[in-house]
Amino acid sequence: MKIDSISNGIVLDHITAGKALQVYDDLELRKLDCSVAILQNVKSNKMGKKDILKIDKEYDINLDVLGYIDPNITVSVIKDGQTIEKKKLALPKKLVNIKKCKNPRCITSTEQGIPHMFKLTDEENRVYRCVYCEADK
Ligand code: ZN
Repeated sequence: MKIDSISNGIVLDHITAGKALQVYDDLELRKLDCSVAILQNVKSNKMGKKDILKIDKEYDINLDVLGYIDPNITVSVIKDGQTIEKKKLALPKKLVNIKKCKNPRCITSTEQGIPHMFKLTDEENRVYRCVYCEADK
């Protein structure tokens, strides 16, 4: 399968196979009015299979959301057909309004307008806790 390469935009590569749609949803890419290509189960020497997302637009991507889903995703910024920048992802130390606390007694559930905040408490196991009520994500 051949997909036209983009001349200006962003390529998300090395997404764990099966996670492209989660990336698409969590980055709210459906709100964009440009072409977005989702490639699933692409053969990869390194990973066996991987997913790729191509966004045909210069776009300020939320790296915290991406890092939270999968810190191994590579982000390439394409300009005039050339890769001008590769961004490194890391597991974000803090999540602000990315995930909601599920504890019904948490202040973010009972009060309006309080930002949802989680702190990374265990990097190895990717555990985040709500900063208000300490509930796990
Ligand atoms: Zn909470």
